[in-house]
This record gives sequence, structure tokens and C-alpha cells, in this order.
Amino acid sequence: MQYRRLGQSGLPLSVLSFGTWATFGKSVGRSLARDMLALAWDRGVNFFDNAETYGNGVAESLMGDVLADLRFPRDSWCVSSKVFFGASDHPKPTQRGLSRKHVVEACHQALQRLRVDYLDLYFCHRPDPDTPIEETVAAMDLLVRQGKVLYWGTSEWPADAIREAHRIARENHLTAPTMEQPQYNLLHRERVEVEYAPLYQDFGMGTTIWSPLASGLLSGKYDDGVPADSRLAHPDYAWLHDTVLGEHGQRVAKVQRLRPLADELGCSTAQLAIAWCVANPHVSTVMLGASRLEQLQHNLDALDVLPKLDEAMRQRVAQAVA
Ligand code: NDP
Repeated sequence: MQYRRLGQSGLPLSVLSFGTWATFGKSVGRSLARDMLALAWDRGVNFFDNAETYGNGVAESLMGDVLADLRFPRDSWCVSSKVFFGASDHPKPTQRGLSRKHVVEACHQALQRLRVDYLDLYFCHRPDPDTPIEETVAAMDLLVRQGKVLYWGTSEWPADAIREAHRIARENHLTAPTMEQPQYNLLHRERVEVEYAPLYQDFGMGTTIWSPLASGLLSGKYDDGVPADSRLAHPDYAWLHDTVLGEHGQRVAKVQRLRPLADELGCSTAQLAIAWCVANPHVSTVMLGASRLEQLQHNLDALDVLPKLDEAMRQRVAQAVA
């Protein structure tokens, strides 16, 4: 495993980390969750991502239960939660968003579910147009000062809003956001590479990037249709179908163009896609998702591809799917 500092902070995160969206509490039950966290740990992963909304809190409870059972020393791994969507299908107005009330209460609930005394990373899962940014920055600062959160950040905030959060923090002597959690993969590059570019320079922001395989698409698993046991076949994720595959399957055709390059490098398209994300120095950690132990094992091996992925090859890969 390799470790990279979370932006300008001193926190070293494993370049490959592990998240639970759409898996823990769904297709992944307790026994498999335990095997996955144990495998990730054995392979040097030190960051586990979660959110209040994943399975409406079930993913966090499951992770907390397994981490307590595995007894890895608490000072050797990091866990996150995210606040915004709430932890039920129909949250009451005070049970969602980024008000001081919900940010603080969601933190307390995540601490209980995850069975920890503090969250290493805590994210605002989306911007909240109904809450002044000042209020959210102050709420995060409060949690940091109380020792309940170590680093706070945003997820899918426009660059302007992140810049505003930094201004408010600087002018009021509050804790500024350390990291952003954006989608980043071979088919979704603009925000990380263009929109956020000044943020790395100006504020030393780190990134914990999500969907490195575009929900599995970049593994090639959708080349010949939607397998019955895949994410897109699950009724809860039917809404993802067109976004992931493209309205007329255009994105599937792009993935097929990756195969010759993966063959040239002696790896799978999944491993190539993951290594391609890691090769971007502004990516602090690539968050892997898996519904099976073999997928996680396979994806963790992506680091073997990294030495072969020089800048010229990285560009050839990007051009293949452009
Ligand atoms: P990926 O794009 O890597 O998709 C993971 C899914 O792809 C797996 O669950 C599995 O689905 C399939 N898959 C993975 N590896 C393979 C393989 N080798 N061969 C075939 N299929 C494979 O990542 P996620 O979309 O899961 O995102 C990763 C993490 O990022 C999440 O767990 C979550 O923690 C975080 N996230 C954050 C978001 C945010 O808004 N901040 C949004 C989304 C995710 P299956 O087998 O079911 O088809």
C-alpha cells in the first residue's frame, strides 16, 4: 500500500480506501462485511468511508459492529461519516440538511452507530441552499473543537462555495475544510481536473474520490448487457441506469476501447481505471466499492499497474475514452 497526505494536512491516508454505499446492509451482510474490512486492513487500507444516508444508518451500524469485533487499534485507521440527506426515507425538516442542529445531531448519531468517540473525517454530503454557509462552518468548527471530528470537508460542493467556506473560516478564526469528496473516474473528470484546480493551489485541499469504476461500468461488466446480480439490476439503483451506461449505451462503447490498453499493461480494465485515478497527484485516496470479496481483492491489486502508468500512457488511456 502507498500512503498520501490528505491535501495539506498531516494525515496519511492509504491511496486505496473502502466505502459502503449501495453494498453494506444491502447485498453485503455481516459475515462478508467482516471479511471485506479484514482483507482491506490486511492490505494496508486505513480509511473506511460511510454516511448517515447509506442504508439509512444501517451501513454505519454494520461497520461499527464489525470494527469493534475486529479490534484493530483505533489510532491506526480512519472512519468518516457524511451529513445532509438524513438517515430515513422521509426525514423531518430538522433531520436533514446542514443546519447547526442537524450537523451536530447527525455527528452524534454517527458516533453511536460507528461505536467511536470521534470521526476522523466528516463531510457535508451536498451543499444546502437553505442554510447559510457561515452556520455550517461554525457547526463544523464546534465539533472539531469538541474533539468529535478531526477533519471536516465537503462533497460535491461547487468550487465557489468551498472558496466561500475558506473565506468565512479565515475571517472568523474557524476551522476550514480540509478535503472534498467528488466523483472522479475516466468518464467524469471536469470537476476534479478543471473546476477544483485552483483549490489545490490556494487552500491545499485534498480529495477522497468516489465511483472510480463509474458504479462498476469501467470493469467492463456491462459490455454485454446488465448482469442480473449487478448494481444496475437492483431495483433501488434503477435510477442510475442511464447515467451510468449513457442513454444509448455510449459509455459502454467507450469502456470497450479500454480493453486493448489493459491487455497491453497486463491488467483488467477495472485495475487500469483505478490506477489511472491514483496516478493523479491531487487525488488523496481512491475509495473502492465492492459487492464481493473477490472484487475487492482484484481492485486492491490495481496498485501493481501504477509503475507502468507513466504520463504518456495515462494520456493514451484518457484519449481512448474521450
Ligand atoms: P465503484 O465505481 O468502484 O463501483 C463499485 C461497484 O462496482 C461494486 O459495488 C460492484 O457492484 C462493482 N465492482 C467493483 N469492482 C468490480 C470488479 N472488479 N468487477 C466487476 N464489478 C465490480 O465505486 P462506488 O460507486 O461504490 O463508490 C465507492 C465509494 O465512494 C462508496 O462506497 C462510497 O463510500 C463513496 N461514494 C460517495 C458518494 C458521495 O456522494 N460522496 C457517492 C457515491 C459513492 P456490483 O457487483 O453490485 O455490480
